[in-house]
Amino acid sequence: MKVRFENISLNYDNQKEILHNLNFEISNGKLTCLLGPSGCGKSTTLNLISGLLLPSAGKIYFDDQDVTKKDALARRVGMVFQNYALYPHMTVLENICFPLKMSKVKKATQLKRARELAELVHISNELDKHPAELSGGQQQRVAIARALAKSPSILLLDEPLSNLDARLRVKMRDEIRKIQLATGVTTVFVTHDQDEAIHIADKIMILNNGKIQQYTTPNKIYDAPSNLFVAKFIGNPEVNVIPLAAAKDQFAGIVPPEILKEATSLIVRPESIILADSPEESLPVEFQGKLLKADRFGKEIAVKINFQENEILATGIFKAGLESKAELIRFKLKPVGIFLSNPAGKIIWSASGERIINND
Ligand code: ADP
Repeated sequence: MKVRFENISLNYDNQKEILHNLNFEISNGKLTCLLGPSGCGKSTTLNLISGLLLPSAGKIYFDDQDVTKKDALARRVGMVFQNYALYPHMTVLENICFPLKMSKVKKATQLKRARELAELVHISNELDKHPAELSGGQQQRVAIARALAKSPSILLLDEPLSNLDARLRVKMRDEIRKIQLATGVTTVFVTHDQDEAIHIADKIMILNNGKIQQYTTPNKIYDAPSNLFVAKFIGNPEVNVIPLAAAKDQFAGIVPPEILKEATSLIVRPESIILADSPEESLPVEFQGKLLKADRFGKEIAVKINFQENEILATGIFKAGLESKAELIRFKLKPVGIFLSNPAGKIIWSASGERIINND
């Protein structure tokens, strides 16, 4: 089932507007992530999809049906929250059966469906336990099985992994993806964690201040961010942002003059900086800076360079002895991960020629 927002705005209690004229479509059978910093409007958007909140303006469609005024029950959504929200006095099996019991499904059918779902989320061995006897990851599996019990029109997950430790988060996100692919259920997943979104999503919608910044596939967002906010938000460590004046001469040869005239910032992903004598493919530019610091953290390398009074970070550079020498370092740039932005922060050029996509 696909979801469409048409000119949706929202303010709580006639206070200031939180979401501003959102227009988007969530594809049928795909996993879409709503991603952005805390307070940007992710949960509000999710609650509008679910019907827990009604918009101040605009219309919401499920396929071609206008559901703007329908509540969560009528929309048949399945929801999973950060805090699991399981019924503590019921066993795992009773928790999964509960929505079916409420819909007066026959007992034998309830049990069959609950057992199938328990199998799907790998919780079959815990059916007689109570939630308090389960780990956080197990509780979240039960919550997912319960949300899927009534074959929802759409599965909505609000930061479902936030309470889990880092390793379990990675395991569970992969499992959620597997479950989503196995069931084909249209899924919307809210997270503030860009790494999680990149790994799990078919498409990512990045929100900031209640507005869509970019909405496309994870790789397109990484390779062709639409603006400085997106470029900084996606990717770890963060991109380097350098006044273009520091490198304008070198770029004059590779950037069309009208773009060079408008551009004010050069944006460089840390892994796109390589040593000048590296055999790797690069743009025909070369720079020089003073090496400030080189550190290794396990598989990560962090080299800090003073480039025309800007401290920049490079993670694609390492050679033996680099740590010990405070010297000049010559570097060049890979043809990916290099962008130019205008004073408004809009990205107007990418070295890879990747088209900047806002919606597709
Ligand atoms: P996110 O999920 O991205 O962290 P939310 O959608 O929860 O953000 O919140 C977006 C904005 O709406 C925030 O500024 C938040 O303070 C405000 N907000 C959320 N819920 C309410 C509410 N019930 N009443 C008033 N303001 C709210």
